Amino acid sequence: MAKWVYEFGDGAAEGKSEMRDLLGGKGANLAEMANLGLPVPPGFTITTEVCTYFYDHGKTYPPELEAQVNAALEQAGKIAGHVFGDEANPLLVSVRSGSRASMPGMMDTVLNLGLTDSTVEALAKSSGNDRFAYDSYRRFIQMYSNVVLDVDHHLFEDILETFKERKGYSLDTDLTGADWKLMITAYKAKVQEVLGKPFPQDPKAQLWGAIGAVFGSWMNPRAITYRRLQNIPASWGTAVNVQAMVFGNMGETSATGVAFTRNPSTGASELYGEFLINAQGEDVVAGIRTPQNITEAARIEAGSDKPSMETALPEVFAEFLRATELLEKHYRDMQDMEFTVETGKLWMLQTRNGKRTAKASLRIAVEMANDGLITREEAVMRIDPAALDQLLHPTIDPKAERQVVVTGLPASPGAASGEIVFNSDDAEAAKASGRKCILVRVETSPEDIHGMHASEGILTTRGGMTSHAAVVARGMGKPCVSGAGSVRVDYKAGTMTSAGVTFKKGDIITVDGTTGQVIKGAIAMLQPELSGEFATLMEWADGVRRMGVRANAETPTDARVARKFGAEGIGLCRTEHMFFEGDRIVAVREMILADDEAGRRKALAKLLPIQRADFAELFEIMSGLPVCIRLLDPPLHEFLPHTDDEIAEVATSLGVSEDKLRSRASELHEFNPMLGFRGCRLAIAFPEIAEMQARAIFEGAIEAKKKTGAMVTPEIMVPLVFGKTELDLVKASIDAMAKAVETETGDKVPYSVGTMIELPRACLLAAEIAESAEFFSFGTNDLTQTGLGISRDDAASFLGPYTAKGILASDPFVTIDQRGVGELVEIGIARGQKTRPAIKLGICGEHGGDPASIHFCEKVGLTYVSCSPFRVPIARLAAAQAALAVKSKS
Ligand code: PEP
Ligand code: MG
Repeated sequence: MAKWVYEFGDGAAEGKSEMRDLLGGKGANLAEMANLGLPVPPGFTITTEVCTYFYDHGKTYPPELEAQVNAALEQAGKIAGHVFGDEANPLLVSVRSGSRASMPGMMDTVLNLGLTDSTVEALAKSSGNDRFAYDSYRRFIQMYSNVVLDVDHHLFEDILETFKERKGYSLDTDLTGADWKLMITAYKAKVQEVLGKPFPQDPKAQLWGAIGAVFGSWMNPRAITYRRLQNIPASWGTAVNVQAMVFGNMGETSATGVAFTRNPSTGASELYGEFLINAQGEDVVAGIRTPQNITEAARIEAGSDKPSMETALPEVFAEFLRATELLEKHYRDMQDMEFTVETGKLWMLQTRNGKRTAKASLRIAVEMANDGLITREEAVMRIDPAALDQLLHPTIDPKAERQVVVTGLPASPGAASGEIVFNSDDAEAAKASGRKCILVRVETSPEDIHGMHASEGILTTRGGMTSHAAVVARGMGKPCVSGAGSVRVDYKAGTMTSAGVTFKKGDIITVDGTTGQVIKGAIAMLQPELSGEFATLMEWADGVRRMGVRANAETPTDARVARKFGAEGIGLCRTEHMFFEGDRIVAVREMILADDEAGRRKALAKLLPIQRADFAELFEIMSGLPVCIRLLDPPLHEFLPHTDDEIAEVATSLGVSEDKLRSRASELHEFNPMLGFRGCRLAIAFPEIAEMQARAIFEGAIEAKKKTGAMVTPEIMVPLVFGKTELDLVKASIDAMAKAVETETGDKVPYSVGTMIELPRACLLAAEIAESAEFFSFGTNDLTQTGLGISRDDAASFLGPYTAKGILASDPFVTIDQRGVGELVEIGIARGQKTRPAIKLGICGEHGGDPASIHFCEKVGLTYVSCSPFRVPIARLAAAQAALAVKSKS
């Protein structure tokens, strides 16, 4: 008989942590904790296979499931000393979702399930605490109605608020047992009113309702969005965990909390967390009461006057500390744990590898490797390359004057400035129109994921360091200040007010997630410091990396940043970018407007010294590292003015008539410029352009050598060839220029000539092209454009539905389309190597900085990847991980 349910509790479990795919992360870890002998409330996990079955069979369950659930319930009850549904001694349970990957977009927890009008009486009697029992029941009605029955929780909050106002109460704790009884009656009446049927009084019906809601939540829009953003396949499914309730709200010796074995913001090796005495799970994260520190050291540092768990519950603290140490050693990673203390007894409710900032993840990985808990290779594998982005971005200049509006909690590090928006749709709209924004909310919920993505930073007025906003922002690497309690947000008016100062939607603020400060206006930022653990981990990564990492750079600034970030050369210098600056554009335009070759040569002669100086400087900065320079690529019309005003201005500055300028611009107009007069086609039609560039390269190399003493070996790259003949024609003029410069100067510059492979035909004819090309650089931007027939510039309008419908796994301009474009690359490599076995193979499209694409590059054996300077560290790490992954498979 198929097994759909796995039990745990009482120091044993049917599952274990390796069964994550089947039991989900939460279920597998509960089983593992039970196996480790830690105190875990007994319960069971309904497997992810049931979820798959549920969706494959018209939302029905396997026939054996009910009996297996009943048996597991009975067993859990036996261990806990209760019976599910029993009116005198009821077992109460929690029901929680739990997929393979942690998914904040999924169903919330349902606690206290099994409470009914009659079982609540038993709970009151057995606990000797009416207030606790009725409070638990009303919480259950509210939670269950909201999560399972889809009744808006505000309806219940309104009832409670009105009641409190009438009674003159300010806190929930002011309500007595009798008060909560009144609330229960009112809540049930509300459910009847909204749903037209009573709140379910049969515990079994409650349980199946909750199980159905968990499986149903796998396909809710929040979960679907989250999966799309995190690349989690829908086929994984979720498990359901049903577990005996333990209560943290049974008085002063009861508590509930969350903790990390290391500090998730800094990575410091210290127990870190928050707890609340006499509270239930959701109270800690809800941010309504301010949580207390777990350790005394943290309490002192925070300057809190509320006792730490270490002093308030010293014995439980000691046991908890042992459990946390055991768990970290066992999992060999920082753990994020939930626990409850019920009248002095510790219960572990969850453990998982904790989410952390990039900074913390580096420190934790390096320290764990140094302590011998993990290997250096594991440390390298542990860091998400994309998360390094957080460390590579600016922080606030400490010398800058800060007009601090308010200080909240430093929930996610880094700093960002932008205009205030008060909801996620406005954040998306701002981003779509190219404006940077800061999302300001009282608190965030999973519905705000898209807004958080679209904004530069997040500010919330409620919630602690473990609030939704804090956790999600850290995961996304966005700065976040949470719990800025003195800020009043008025959504209707579109304002936020702090200390008498009011800001409107659109006003600029800066959030500093490292200090918790919110600052008026934009502020000077500093470049990141790349030493310490970052440098250590990068060194380890470089030690295992096979592929080279170069940068796409053309300006001296870019080249310097690239070197600082560890680039081993320039993989693509787009010379056209050098044509726009200062007075160069004037000479470029003169060249384009020239009526004949002589006119063009005259204008090019003006450009020559400028280009030569550009190249000389680049060679100098790169001091002997390879520099790959691409000949002019874009269609010439890109250099001409387009609007009437621009045309008038340029005509005056060039001393030509507006008509002439306009008519040349219209001559150069193309319907498909990206498939038009560009790339090597320019060099073939106007050889004098390539000649000037080749001369500038050779003369620049000689100049740089004179200054630095190091000989550079320029790589000269021809763009957009579809066959050997084009390359041969251009190569001939480069070779001729090399000879000419040698004759003129007596200096011989070593150089190589290669080509971009960025058209499908070039991949197919790579064997022939490699007869002439000394290297290939795959231009996967154009290869994606031409391979899929999708315009690089116009794809945004339809790529959304294409990825949403699964036609494309992801944006092919971000992550290489391995099946199609990837195969073209593989064909290009195989055929190129046939005629030139040692051919140097690079990639310089955007994919060169994308970790998933870099993995592909390693697999197919490229020599190097080249990407934008800021992505160089990401590429170095991703290349190391790819090398380790490929090695472990072979
Ligand atoms: C490419 O096409 O991948 C490439 C690097 O060239 P560009 O983006 O300049 O067209
Ligand atoms: Mg290209």
